[in-house]
Amino acid sequence: MTSSEPDMLKFDNADGKPLGPYRVKVMLATALPFEGGVLDYLLDDENTPRIGQIVIAPLGNRSVPGVIVGLSDEDPMDKRLKPLDAISDLPDLSADMLDTLRWVAGWTMAPVGAVLKMVLPIKDALLPPKGQMAWRPAPDLSLEAGITEKRRAVLEVLQDSPPMTTSDAALFTGVSKAMITAMAKDGLLEAVTINPEDQDANPILGKAHQTPSLTLTSAQDKAAHAVKQALDEGCFTPFVLDGVTGSGKTEVYFEAIAHTIAQGRQALILLPEIALSPAMQERFKARFGDFPVVWHSGLTPHQRNRAYRRIAKGQAPVVIGARSALFLPYPNLGLITVDEEHDQSYKQDDHVPYQARDMAVMRAKAEDIPVILATATPSLETEVNIDQGRYQRLELKERIGTAELPDMAMIDLRRDPPPRQQWLAPQLVQEIENVLEQGKQSLLFLNRRGYAPLTLCRTCGERLTCRQCSAWLVAHKRDHALHCHHCGHRTRMPQDCPSCETEGSLVPCGPGVERLSDEVKSLFPDARQAVLSSDLVTTPAALAAFTEDVLSGAVDIIIGTQMITKGHHFPDLKLVGVVDADLGLAGGDLRAAETTWQVMVQVAGRAGRSGEKGKAVLQTMAPETPVFKALMAADREAFLTAEKQSRQIAGMPPYGRLASIILSGRDEAKLRESGALLGQNRPHFEDVAILGPAPAPMAYLRGRHRIRFLIKAKRGVNVQKIIADWLKCVTLPSSIRCQIDIDPYHFM
Ligand code: ADP
Ligand code: ZN
Repeated sequence: MTSSEPDMLKFDNADGKPLGPYRVKVMLATALPFEGGVLDYLLDDENTPRIGQIVIAPLGNRSVPGVIVGLSDEDPMDKRLKPLDAISDLPDLSADMLDTLRWVAGWTMAPVGAVLKMVLPIKDALLPPKGQMAWRPAPDLSLEAGITEKRRAVLEVLQDSPPMTTSDAALFTGVSKAMITAMAKDGLLEAVTINPEDQDANPILGKAHQTPSLTLTSAQDKAAHAVKQALDEGCFTPFVLDGVTGSGKTEVYFEAIAHTIAQGRQALILLPEIALSPAMQERFKARFGDFPVVWHSGLTPHQRNRAYRRIAKGQAPVVIGARSALFLPYPNLGLITVDEEHDQSYKQDDHVPYQARDMAVMRAKAEDIPVILATATPSLETEVNIDQGRYQRLELKERIGTAELPDMAMIDLRRDPPPRQQWLAPQLVQEIENVLEQGKQSLLFLNRRGYAPLTLCRTCGERLTCRQCSAWLVAHKRDHALHCHHCGHRTRMPQDCPSCETEGSLVPCGPGVERLSDEVKSLFPDARQAVLSSDLVTTPAALAAFTEDVLSGAVDIIIGTQMITKGHHFPDLKLVGVVDADLGLAGGDLRAAETTWQVMVQVAGRAGRSGEKGKAVLQTMAPETPVFKALMAADREAFLTAEKQSRQIAGMPPYGRLASIILSGRDEAKLRESGALLGQNRPHFEDVAILGPAPAPMAYLRGRHRIRFLIKAKRGVNVQKIIADWLKCVTLPSSIRCQIDIDPYHFM
């Protein structure tokens, strides 16, 4: 990527007077239908425009963020030209950043404005917050007569501190807010306006907090040293921190982050959203003396604004965030870490469909900085990048201390089935019993939310499906409702079959975590259990309470969905039972075997993280499946080799390229016509196969019918260009939506 543009547009004439007003080109942070997403605006002569300057511009009846990308040659006096609404006080976007976002738009085929929207997601955060009223002791105050002890104490505190708001003053001095206002009324306090951001200007994270609390092992030290060296050299180096669960990867990248902070630069840690637990933030604080700035979808608007401005002003030395944190405008980025790099939640499917791990590597390249991809189970893409010499592997082969990896065992559900309407095989029940007797903890993993994945009528065989989607409705017990996990639609659980109207004929089929919880209750009535799923544990506080309960030993059996597989460190956990290991293999997803491998290793890795060895037990209907055999043998090489081979033979990613085009519309006939039209105009190239039109795997979603084309090409082929040229040949009706996904992950 080149960055030759000057970031200052110099238009001042010799005597220093500006030559304005200016007609500036502004790229708007919204998906505009025309190419480039750039419109002209008027900038008055008090401001000299700079490339990368963040602004707010009027668009129709809206006001949207944007960035100045150049000067227009046309007439600035044009009456139709609209003036900008405001100019942000935040640092300009760098030329590297502008290059990166254009590159991302080109790669994902998304409008550049949609990508810019990820960089400038909140308009309010682009301008300074309003000042707040605060108090300091009145000048010339004599503290002699008539002042109570309490009031004197308040004044003494305020004398030695910056001005405080009424609530802060009350909080810090231990008096009521009414007392503070009364003191002001009596002339003891003077009002001043403070900028709530002043406290953010000096982050606590500093040199004092950079001594590691523990001594790194020699393997950890070696890995950390490699990254620190790259940081010192200041050049793009992609590392893969490849270490089994519990091998101390987090400590290694913490060490690299400490080095980044010492260089005065910002470090970004990307985590899958659900791994952004309070426990992780506590751990960070223990190491660095302060909390990091966090960025995820659960922040309040106030928290988001504050975090955004700290990040953009370079006042956030370390940011921990979900994938969307990648595109924020760090002025001074020094290191990116992508933890759990194999995790598929790094792939975003809608708006701008991008793979955050891959884009993190691109961003690191543009900024010329190191990037760490940390994982116990590298993705196949990453493995191939190592094989081909693009990424450098740093290995941690052993768990820290005496902890060993758990033993793995399989239960063949065909030979050892559970009783009817139950899901735990006798052998697994026995294992749980043993662990309970030892006073240790067990974890049952079932990646299914709710009570039952399907509700069926015993009389007519009707399966309850969503009216908006081609999907079964999932029964949830807690609210006695049926939920669609695709569109969020909810209805009360009906008494009678909606089809044949027979009363009491509906039966739940199959287990979700809620149903499993009932089974555990009846099998082990005295055991204390806790269920972790996104429906039941919905806030960071609830997650913290859950973690606390498990750590304090108040829970014997944990039941969890995918949420439980990430990041948790429960020392007393001895047994992991995978209730349905086959679940992820159904559906014929390209990455099904790979994902199953990763999930199994991750969830098993929760067991035996300290002290004696743990055990992981997989229940399956097909023990002969290669991925299970490799898991039992703990033979990662064999699994990866076989998986690579089969992808290579099929010409699938990462050896070949894949893209999907999904057309959707409410009118099925019109949609079919559009599909046929696109099909007739398909391009013909030797190295490219175009499959479709065919019904998409989710043929009906949120009230729209969907058809799909799959484009399969050799690795060197410019798929984006082929698709762009192809789509130019046809004009689709405006009611038909066209979504392009380059390298799709979730085949919906
Ligand atoms: P990973 O990220 O690979 O799963 P962690 O970094 O979470 O591993 O480390 C696992 C456990 O070992 C944590 O409790 C951590 O505090 C501890 N640990 C890591 N490195 C060391 C070390 N050098 N000495 C002692 N304990 C360590
Ligand atoms: Zn639905």
